[in-house]
Parts: sequence; C-alpha cells; structure tokens
Amino acid sequence: MGLNKGMDEAKLMEPNEGIVLFHPHIPSGAIERVTKVLSGRWIGQGPLVDEFETKFNSLYGKNTKALAVGSGTDALHLAYLLADIKEGDEVIVPVFTCTATNIPFLYMGAKIVFADVDPHTMNIDVKHVKRLVTEKTKAIVVVHYGGLPCEMDELKALSALHNITIIEDAAHALGATYKGENVGSISPYTMYSFQAIKHITTGDGGLLLLPEEQYEKAKRLRWFGIDRSAKQMGIWENDITEVGYKYQMTDIGAAMGLAALEEFDQTLAYRRKLFSIYERQLTGCSHLHFVGGGYHDREHAAWMCTILVENRKQLWQKLRDQKIESAQVHYRNDRYSIFGGKVEGRYPNMDEVEDKYLVLPLHTRMSEDDVIRICDVINSGW
Ligand SMILES: *Cc1c(COP(=O)(O)O)cnc(C)c1O
Repeated sequence: MGLNKGMDEAKLMEPNEGIVLFHPHIPSGAIERVTKVLSGRWIGQGPLVDEFETKFNSLYGKNTKALAVGSGTDALHLAYLLADIKEGDEVIVPVFTCTATNIPFLYMGAKIVFADVDPHTMNIDVKHVKRLVTEKTKAIVVVHYGGLPCEMDELKALSALHNITIIEDAAHALGATYKGENVGSISPYTMYSFQAIKHITTGDGGLLLLPEEQYEKAKRLRWFGIDRSAKQMGIWENDITEVGYKYQMTDIGAAMGLAALEEFDQTLAYRRKLFSIYERQLTGCSHLHFVGGGYHDREHAAWMCTILVENRKQLWQKLRDQKIESAQVHYRNDRYSIFGGKVEGRYPNMDEVEDKYLVLPLHTRMSEDDVIRICDVINSGW
C-alpha cells in the first residue's frame, strides 16, 4: 500500500490545468428546467420525481417500477430490504467495488461474503461465486465495473438453481446491454446512481428498478413508512407500521435528471466513442491489459476506462507530469476494518491486480484528441 500513497494524496487538478479524471456532465436543458422548479411550489419531492421515474422505467425497465431516491446507496439499501435480507443472511458481494455497494449490509447485520475479482474485466468472478454459495446465501450483488455487464446468464442460472436473488449495482452501467437486453430489465432489482460524476447527475441521487408489486411498499420505505398519497389527501389517521427512511429525490434533482435523459443517447454515444479510441489505441500493447474490452455480446456503458500495468506509480507520475489525472477510484473492500479487515491470500486475483489497475480520464469535457494524447503518452512507455 505504501507505494500508492502518493497517488492517494495528490492534489486534484483544476480543469483548466490539464485533463481531469472526471467532470460532471451538465445537460444543456438543466439550468432552464431547474430555474423553473425554483420558481414554483414543489422544490422537494413533487410531480417531476414521478415524471422522471416513469420516463426512466420506460427506457430501461421491464415488468418493473422505478423508485427515485436521494442516492445510489439509498437505492441499494432499499433493494436489500425489499429482497428480504435479514440479520445473519449471507450475501455474496464483489470484494472490488465502491464501498457504497456493501455498507448498507452493515446497517442490516447481514453477513458479507466477498467474491474475488475476474482480473480481465474487474467484474465479480462467477467461478468464485459458485464456490461461495451455501444454504444461507440470500442474495448476490453484482457491479458492472466501468460499464461492462457481468456474466448475467451464469448468474441467472445460479439464482434459479439455488433460489438466490440477484441485485445489480448498475452505478457504472447506465445504457449498457447484455445479449441485446438493457441492464435494468434482467434482474428483479437494479440500482443506479446519479452522484455528481456518474453518466447522469441529479447533484446526488439514485434510482431503483424493482418488481411492480413492491412499488407501494418501496414508496413507504422511502418516506418514513408513511403512505404519502393517503396523507396528502387529508387522512391524518394513518398508522405507521413499518420503519422507513428519508430517501426521496427532490424535484430539483429530477429536473436535472429529465434534462439528462433527453440528451442521453448523444452523451452515451460520445462516451462510447472516447472509450473505443482508448480501446483501439491500447489493445494489444504488450505492456498493458485493457480491462473489459473485446466483448461482442454486450455493450459497454463507457463510464470508466481502466488498464492493468506494471509499475503503476511511474505511469501515474508520467501522466501527472503531462497534466493528465489518473487514479485507482475504487479499492478492495476487505482492506477496511468495518468489513472485518484483510485476510492474506483469500482473494488471489485481487492480490494479482491490486497494484496494477489504473483508471484513465473519461468524460464529456474531453475531446477525441485528448484521448489520443493520453494514449500516446502511455504508448511511449514509462
Ligand atoms: C457511485 C457508486 C455507488 C453509490 O452511489 P451514490 O449515489 O454515491 O450513493 C454505488 N456503487 C458503485 C459501484 C458506485 O460507483
């Protein structure tokens, strides 16, 4: 870990200094839409949240409803509750992901069972998942790392065989497809994040696609356990019989989300174009592995571009000298004490890639020439 220290602590660059790693994408219609909200009556959760949910569901869901919430983490917590995961239940989760994927299980007292990473894609290693299944396994959570869908057919077969619920963390994967199907219409629960640097941002926000029949319950859990529509109709005698949270999205956020959906086809196409330039320029280089490239049965959502290299710190420094940011972004979760701390040798693939992965800039403020320049720096060696 010592070697990485400089990378962790380096000061972030300003966008005018060079090529930054991430930049929020603010759609052209956002300011106008938000201004309109600010001059109206509903700035918290109001009609635009419903409109955003309906639109999102029609684009990505199938036999689902969409529930818009305050963050991706909120959406995951609600998915875990709706999947009826209880204290002591085992959940198989990726060891390599944003901590947000796994932290809600600590709220709930579920038993986290980490699965190793597939070193070619950085997605969950399904071979390892199969070995981890026990009678107590209640759910498997998968993250489509960087935007590349996981091996969903194999996971679905496992789910059917053992009656295990699959929950997809699609925070990186808005717009991804797997064998012709949208991510979002494959599993009972799919979560999205609209945090500042995700494909779509609502400032902070998230959304859960869930089975239609659980929508009413999900809405109650989002709002203290209260049936809000009954309350708004003036019925104040409503009892509260389940403990809920305060996880709603606001109309300010939904206005941004609606503006983003309007132009999302172009946003995604642009990100994919940049990603494909990286892939073309960096695939087949003997000194690096291009993570998640070369698939033809699934479409990458191009949220992050990751490479595996030797001497990562030197490459990071060389890019930095050229005013190009790069970083690790996510860390193996077993390094954190809250998850029980690291046990040497338990995740051999993770051990193998831990000091090799490096995430390169990918966002809508970059040009195609920026990507070519970054690839030239990489291809000139370090
Ligand atoms: C961003 C992210 C989340 C959490 O989303 P928030 O909206 O920040 O709560 C969860 N999982 C992954 C993989 C993420 O990248």
